[in-house]
Amino acid sequence: MKFNTDYNINNVGEVVTLNGWVAKVRNLGGVIFIDLRDRSGIMQLVVRPENDFYDLADSLHNEYVIKVTGEVVKRESINKNIPTGEIEIEVKTLELLNKSLEIPFALTDDTTSLEDTRLKYRYLDLRRTALNKNLILRHKIMMITRNYFDSLGFIEVETPMLCKSTPEGARDYLVPSRINKGKFYALPQSPQIFKQLLMVGGIMRYFQITKCFRDEDLRADRQPEFTQIDMEMSFVSEEDVMDVTEKLLAKIFKEIKGIDIKLPLLKMKWDDAINVYGSDKPDLRFDLPIKDITNIFNNTNIEFMKNVMVNAIVVNDKANEFSRKDIDKLTDFVKKYKASGLAYLKLEDELTGSIAKLLSDTEKSNLINELNLQKNDIVFIVSGKKNIVKSALGALRVKLAHDLNLIDPDEYKLLWVVDFPSFEWSEEEGRFMAMHHPFTAPKDEDVEKLLNDKEHCYSKAYDIVINGYEAGGGSIRIHDEAVQEKMFAALELTPQQVREKFGFFVDALKFGTPPHGGLAIGLDRLTMILAGTDNIRDVIAFPKTANANDLMSEAPSAVDAEQLKELGIKVSE
Ligand code: ASP
Repeated sequence: MKFNTDYNINNVGEVVTLNGWVAKVRNLGGVIFIDLRDRSGIMQLVVRPENDFYDLADSLHNEYVIKVTGEVVKRESINKNIPTGEIEIEVKTLELLNKSLEIPFALTDDTTSLEDTRLKYRYLDLRRTALNKNLILRHKIMMITRNYFDSLGFIEVETPMLCKSTPEGARDYLVPSRINKGKFYALPQSPQIFKQLLMVGGIMRYFQITKCFRDEDLRADRQPEFTQIDMEMSFVSEEDVMDVTEKLLAKIFKEIKGIDIKLPLLKMKWDDAINVYGSDKPDLRFDLPIKDITNIFNNTNIEFMKNVMVNAIVVNDKANEFSRKDIDKLTDFVKKYKASGLAYLKLEDELTGSIAKLLSDTEKSNLINELNLQKNDIVFIVSGKKNIVKSALGALRVKLAHDLNLIDPDEYKLLWVVDFPSFEWSEEEGRFMAMHHPFTAPKDEDVEKLLNDKEHCYSKAYDIVINGYEAGGGSIRIHDEAVQEKMFAALELTPQQVREKFGFFVDALKFGTPPHGGLAIGLDRLTMILAGTDNIRDVIAFPKTANANDLMSEAPSAVDAEQLKELGIKVSE
């Protein structure tokens, strides 16, 4: 059976059978035109008054399901907007397969109906070409991935969905056990431990396209359940994993977009990414680097710039485009990132702007020289603690690029961010946490720092970044039991906690664990980038809302008292 778009001008004269949904019916002075929609697109059907099926055709409504046979003929007026626009079907027989209620929103690609309505009737929304195109795209990415890994000797191995809850990382989704009352499984946040155990198990090259679950507050590009392209390899270095991964991505970009990605990809150290782009997932489609100008203010009289970091972003030749009001808005924007304010300077005939009057002559000339300022340049300055300065300017950099239209939507900039710190300080917990996960190997030269210099301990972790999105990440793992113990100690886990939570895993490391490493790519995010949408729900068949609800099935929902009783669970008020 063929799809609508399998037919074109070369099929003229053939009698064909088509199935699908009525997208539109028009009765133009006797002749009825029907737009027949199937997964591939629209085909125009023609039913003339003398046709035996004319009355039936005249009774059709949108979304009725029909089957037609008819002859492919050349159209008089060509529609360039659709792939079948040169032909139409002169209907010979028409069969009504099913009727439909009137649907609650229009199934057009440029629909303006509320997303909540569309999510409630997701099965209807999926009929829209734009959405089912995304699912086809997603399928293609999965096919390319599976074939690619297979060709390199990787095997797809499924790992459990009912797992042990382990600390670190995000919050677990828990599943109560009926047979073992009071005990819980956790849904996997990722197959991390299992894939490492597969390496202990001698599998050597594993991959899996699999669901992962994290009970986190959601953002536009996050879902409570999401899909990873997960992989792990034995006897490899960071370079090997990055090489296998970037070749997969290059293949996907080539086959899906026809774009040649130049390999090897750029590798940027984490420290540099933070310093220059204020982000560990820098968007390199535009410039706007962050400049460290702290030294200019070493002896400053400006109170809020004393003894703190001072960084700037220069926008060339656009000073006249920023009004006071624009700058106030940008100030509010950086405050969301905890910056105390946003200073600015414009180079007009002289330096003007919020701090111009406070600057000494030396500071002025140093600024002009070091930032190489030209007339009509504008400088945005944030001062304060390093992490605040960097993240505020990092976010401002992206905002400016969007506001000033500096991004080419057809461009893709891929890079590796490497040499991540092993730890990050958590204000909430008052301790160092694993930046990646507790199985990430430190750099060989930093093993000793695990316990005595956490701040300067770097790891063999890498992230793949596409257009400012973290598309994936991974690391070389610790395969040495002694190092793993040091890592747990560094994370302030007591030996007892380690035994309870990871005992089985630590035991496994004692039985000839090969050196290994891997990575996971977020399939939803990758599909989203390739589909050119910034809404992750557009690339998932049955997604959840930002409140983690499925509006269609109304999950989560209350359950029967009987079900709870069986599980030994009481819901507190
Ligand atoms: N399990 C990691 C994650 O989900 C990826 C990896 O290290 O392979 O981020």
